Amino acid sequence: MGRKDLKYRGSECLNCGTALDISEKFCHHCGQLNSTKKLTISDFIEEFFANFYAYDSRLRNSIISIFTKPGVLAKEFNEGKRHTYANPFRLFLSVSLLLFISFNLTEGDSDSNTKITEKDLNKERQIKDSITNQILKQSPNQKKTM
Ligand SMILES: [Zn+2]
Repeated sequence: MGRKDLKYRGSECLNCGTALDISEKFCHHCGQLNSTKKLTISDFIEEFFANFYAYDSRLRNSIISIFTKPGVLAKEFNEGKRHTYANPFRLFLSVSLLLFISFNLTEGDSDSNTKITEKDLNKERQIKDSITNQILKQSPNQKKTM
């Protein structure tokens, strides 16, 4: 089923024009799928979920590796074993994006909780004043006892 079927394969890449053998699933020059089948809505949907799943499994591998074997992902990625993991830079950008979106969504709530009002400032001043008054009252007594 789908666009990868043998009956849809062409003798030439539709993207770059490289001559292809019917046994080649993808163009050996540019990597495009060797298929002459016209795209349908179901092809788009199938491709979307296939891409999502491919990214998701890499994402799952990366996240599991980060938490169970710290450092192994970086080491293996550096050694060239990149296909099983999500691109770290893309992963970083995705996680950052999610973080900023979540900050934005919760900003309204946290803002009202941390907002310092004039009343709070006045209370704080009163407390400070009462503390300094107490200290001033106590200090002459302490001098007498010394
Ligand atoms: Zn090509």
